[in-house]
Amino acid sequence: MSRWSVLGGGVAGLCVATLLTEQGETPEVILSDETPASHWAGGMLAPFCEGESAPEQVVELGQRAAEWWSQRVDGVAQQGTLVVAAPRDGAELTRFARMTREHQWRDPALLEPELAGRFARGLFFPGEAHLNPRDALQQLRATLEARGVPFHTGKPRGTLIDCRAIHAAARQPDLRAVRGEMLILQCDELHFSRPIRLLHPRFPCYLVPRADGHFMLGATMVESDDASAISARAMMELLSAAWTIHPALAEARIVESGTGRRPAYSHNVPEVRYRDGVFSLNGMYRHGFLLAPAMAQQLMQRLSQEVTHAN
Ligand SMILES: Cc1cc2nc3c(=O)[nH]c(=O)nc-3n(C[C@H](O)[C@H](O)[C@H](O)COP(=O)(O)OP(=O)(O)OC[C@H]3O[C@@H](n4cnc5c(N)ncnc54)[C@H](O)[C@@H]3O)c2cc1C
Repeated sequence: MSRWSVLGGGVAGLCVATLLTEQGETPEVILSDETPASHWAGGMLAPFCEGESAPEQVVELGQRAAEWWSQRVDGVAQQGTLVVAAPRDGAELTRFARMTREHQWRDPALLEPELAGRFARGLFFPGEAHLNPRDALQQLRATLEARGVPFHTGKPRGTLIDCRAIHAAARQPDLRAVRGEMLILQCDELHFSRPIRLLHPRFPCYLVPRADGHFMLGATMVESDDASAISARAMMELLSAAWTIHPALAEARIVESGTGRRPAYSHNVPEVRYRDGVFSLNGMYRHGFLLAPAMAQQLMQRLSQEVTHAN
């Protein structure tokens, strides 16, 4: 019988299960019948850019993410992040530079030749990375299954580790949802090799390259528990911002759209908790791929403390 039951097969649950197996445990992963977990993420591992709005703790913990993922899945692109702004929004770029670190001022066209003539200057964050979140989770799951970890929708049999994200809100009332709308575009004309973030006073956006001419375009940040389809307004604003990055995107095909609910605590930083015999890892907010590895490690320490305490 599995000693640990991980509830939820999103990035938090799979990182926890992965670390458990690396410690010689064979947890079970309990899935829900809903749409695939962590499905809408951009897959950016961008601790320094996130430092613009996130606390230093996020920047610190996030710096381990690229290495953690590279050691466990294929396809982690260590190409950095490029941040640009339209000439009229140059002040935004200067402000972003002041709020962040580990960047260099660069001519965007030297990094992404297809941006030639579009932006006079850009901020390059060479230490950042990105991955395809769906591929990465599939790979983690395949590795777990190869190690004998059962995935099922039945009753949990071990000590619970709750990674149900927003679905745990009934148990954790301080958890809220932040709606994020996104698109997948296909555009064979562009070949960007790194995420491009466009700063804008009202409609910032980012474009994350995927394989086969696909790009993830995201994302809105709306304080709402509404998981319904992308709004017309969000789609118009995201597409208009994408067009500012490159006019070729006007001819892109919209191959997918989606809405995710980011699980967040009031300070927007994830937490490991333990209450009434149940462990939890939650509040990943907009940093599930960035922070789940480090937070899962914190959970491992908490498990061993509680187990030692109980003996
Ligand atoms: C548009 C968008 C873009 C994003 N981009 C990035 C990014 O670039 N980089 C980054 O690091 N993060 C990004 N994020 C954030 C990231 O996607 C989230 O932080 C992350 O997906 C949260 O993962 P999780 O495992 O906590 O929750 P989830 O992925 O929601 O997984 C929880 C799972 O638990 C399941 N569940 C519910 N009830 C039960 C039950 N009773 N038993 C078992 N399972 C249950 C749910 O169905 C769900 O599948 C983005 C988010 C959005 C919405």
